[in-house]
This record gives sequence, structure tokens and C-alpha cells, in this order.
Amino acid sequence: MAVINPKSVKVNVTTGTGMDIEWDDGHRTHFGFQWLRDACPCATCTEERNNHHRNPGEPAKQSAALLPMYKEPAKPKEVKPVGRYALNIAWNDGHASGIYSWDYLREICQCEECRARVVNS
Ligand SMILES: [Zn+2]
Ligand SMILES: [Zn+2]
Repeated sequence: MAVINPKSVKVNVTTGTGMDIEWDDGHRTHFGFQWLRDACPCATCTEERNNHHRNPGEPAKQSAALLPMYKEPAKPKEVKPVGRYALNIAWNDGHASGIYSWDYLREICQCEECRARVVNS
């Protein structure tokens, strides 16, 4: 399958509203920052998600016995292109090893159309 590249990528750090991608084929994707943080594709996060049977973007469950800790909402501190195929996002919690490839981002697209496709396949 041919890789679909983004035509434009907007990272709305100032407004905190997330990331918008417009793809070559006209498809549009929106991700919230917290969702993207919880979908971090690095080896550590992937392993942790697998251990807890979480899907990309699914927040970690807080133990009911613990008081909920205040966490600053996830926001990128820095977003850098990696070659022509990916973005490296450094988050405000200090985590910076996530390389979000276009492939991956398209695969986890959260629009209604793509979510329906995942459910039906
Ligand atoms: Zn990670
Ligand atoms: Zn989509």
C-alpha cells in the first residue's frame, strides 16, 4: 500500500486544541494532545499499553484507592520533523521518544469514517 503523506500539518500548541492533518488524498484527521500522548508509539509506551491491554490513545486507569493526582494537560513542547516520514513530539511531561510516523497517524485516525472502518473490519 502506498504511503499517504500529509499535505499540511497544524500543531495548535498556543490554543491547546491538538493537531490537525490534511492528507494528500483529501482526508482530514484531528487529534487531541492528550490522546496523542496516550498513543505514543515509542517502545516503552507501547509495551506499557500492551501490558495493560490498552489501545493507543486510551488513558491509563488510575487506581481507585489513590487520590487522583493533578496532571497538567499534555502539550507538546517541541515538534520536529523526522526525515519526510514522521514527527517527533517532545511533551511537557518530559517524554520525548515518540516518533509518530505518517503511517501510524493515518492508521489511528480518529474521524468517524476511520473508526467505523476499524469496527467493521
Ligand atoms: Zn512513549
Ligand atoms: Zn479518518
